[in-house]
Amino acid sequence: MANKIKVATTSLAGCFGCHMSFLDLDERLIALAEVAEFDRSPITDIEHCGPCDIGLIEGGVCNSENVHVLREFRKNCKILVAVGACAINGGLPAMRNHISLEDCLLEAYRDGIGVENAQIPNDPELPLLLDKVHPIHEVVKVDYYLPGCPPSADVFWAFLTALLEGREPSYPYELVHYD
Ligand code: SF4
Repeated sequence: MANKIKVATTSLAGCFGCHMSFLDLDERLIALAEVAEFDRSPITDIEHCGPCDIGLIEGGVCNSENVHVLREFRKNCKILVAVGACAINGGLPAMRNHISLEDCLLEAYRDGIGVENAQIPNDPELPLLLDKVHPIHEVVKVDYYLPGCPPSADVFWAFLTALLEGREPSYPYELVHYD
């Protein structure tokens, strides 16, 4: 089919649970594949996000690579969507915002139970952690938010079918939850 819409997805400081929920569309994925094709996504082998209609972002922003990827998505996606609690407000990973980054690193790599050869990883290939975990709207403009941890497959479906049919997305009250 010629004019399939292009969808890109990524997980920043996420747990992949939102992607798993997306895959819970089950047989509806086949219907979706008729009208949409996937650009960069954990379910494709495409390394960089090209021009897309919709970008689905799971996870908040916790390190320098997250910022880079998020900006690439914003640049290339007409519609950018914060998917799930982490992308919307930082989610559970933002609990580390109450502790200094240094204390987090020391606990994980020096002082934690069972740590051997204690050293904080410092290979230049590793992305630097940000002091705090941020929701994605603090870094780029966001067009839509899909609440939930994770949003249910029915939320994804209601959202995507509305966009595909040219309607403004809305969800019945039962589908709106934040847990
Ligand atoms: S919102 Fe929940 S399911 Fe989605 S990435 Fe965050 S922790 Fe995982």
